[in-house]
Amino acid sequence: MRRPKVHIIGGGLAGLAAATRFADGAYDVALYEAARQAGGRCRSYYEPALGLTIDNGNHLLLSGNHAVRDFLKCVGNENALQGPPDARFPFVDLATGESWVLHPNKGSFPWWIFVPGRRVPGTKPSDYLALLKLVLARDGQSISQVMRCEGTLYERLWHPFFLAALNTDPREAAVAPAAAVIRETLMKGAGACRPLVAAEGLTPAFIDPALRFLESRNAHVFLGRRLRAISVADARLAKLEFEDENVPVDRGDAVILAVPAPVAEGLLPGLAVPRTFRAIVNAHFKVEPPASMPPILGVINGLTEWLFAYADRLSVTISGADRLLDVAREDLAQRIWSDVTQLTHLSGPLPPWQIIKEKRATFAATLEEEALRPGPRTPYANLFLAGDWTATGLPATIEGAIRSGYRAADELTGSR
Ligand SMILES: Cc1cc2nc3c(=O)[nH]c(=O)nc-3n(C[C@H](O)[C@H](O)[C@H](O)COP(=O)(O)OP(=O)(O)OC[C@H]3O[C@@H](n4cnc5c(N)ncnc54)[C@H](O)[C@@H]3O)c2cc1C
Repeated sequence: MRRPKVHIIGGGLAGLAAATRFADGAYDVALYEAARQAGGRCRSYYEPALGLTIDNGNHLLLSGNHAVRDFLKCVGNENALQGPPDARFPFVDLATGESWVLHPNKGSFPWWIFVPGRRVPGTKPSDYLALLKLVLARDGQSISQVMRCEGTLYERLWHPFFLAALNTDPREAAVAPAAAVIRETLMKGAGACRPLVAAEGLTPAFIDPALRFLESRNAHVFLGRRLRAISVADARLAKLEFEDENVPVDRGDAVILAVPAPVAEGLLPGLAVPRTFRAIVNAHFKVEPPASMPPILGVINGLTEWLFAYADRLSVTISGADRLLDVAREDLAQRIWSDVTQLTHLSGPLPPWQIIKEKRATFAATLEEEALRPGPRTPYANLFLAGDWTATGLPATIEGAIRSGYRAADELTGSR
């Protein structure tokens, strides 16, 4: 008997994660990716300006990201992420020169907030009670409705933490995805909030192992195949129209659309999707980091927000960076390098650099956009949605993308 087929459109992490769910062989899997390289917004590439292979953006993960762990284990690369053995977040305030290490304790009772050397300097334990209000908030509220978005603790912890997690200024952000992150990481204690990075790069960590795994399970991965349109008949998706050929979707077959929100909306007019996005700017400097540099440094009162130390470069992340999109790249490089020299005590002229502005890095985690995130089901019985922008309950992150792919695959198999 012919096995049913699953067509997965989009080879980002959502699509790849969905594909891994069919590894038991009950379905034939075909995955179509428009680009010549899989990975979408989570990929490595050769950057000629630096003569290095770098990632499209620095990606910070936390040890509480359980779907990420599960995915890496499934594709056989569970040691892909590196980080300190303990949850330690060094910070520097460029305005005052102060530095400190945020150091949550193991276990869910947060005694670290009672220890001056573990909490943010200039704060007292009662300041942290605001977090309870945040996790107990109703959906449909904004962060600024439940937390005072000013003061030392906000400036030194909640602002950088939520801006990084949501890629949206917390003053305009919805509380629900912020609370979900806190519940899954900080509230579970140090074991769930160790900072992790793919030090060897995102493609070697996530994408290549996933492609090898899928190939070993006889999934067909087609690169350079952009879906142009779909045809529907009898309330089901009946045909996929690519540039060079049409692929019928036979009865019993199904499709998972794991493309970015604007592409999904273009293919499925009338679909409600988030329509406002926020930029991320990354700056890369080809310079060997000082031996004393931590792998990740949080920065307060700088243009730089996070400084990542890799073996062959220093890289800076600036989230919610729409205000910088029109700033000349040379100007940005100089300003960010000036922060970096203060933070590292490196001196000398600007080393080889690259500035990458990802205009639509993630959707804006505002109340309006949150309300537009669809679930995995569509009006068509054999069409399912995945992507970091679908209603995962999480911000647009690797964890959210992987979970969305898992959920679309589970809905599909559950619907049979
Ligand atoms: C600069 C930057 C920094 C980030 N930092 C972090 C971080 O620190 N931590 C974190 O967890 N997350 C971070 N993220 C978010 C994370 O990268 C994304 O949430 C995740 O990669 C999204 O995966 P996805 O599969 O949902 O979407 P995508 O990666 O966008 O995948 C969609 C895929 O569909 C393909 N496609 C589009 N149209 C078609 C078509 N018509 N036919 C076929 N294929 C198509 C695209 O080429 C793409 O490969 C960051 C993102 C950026 C851009």
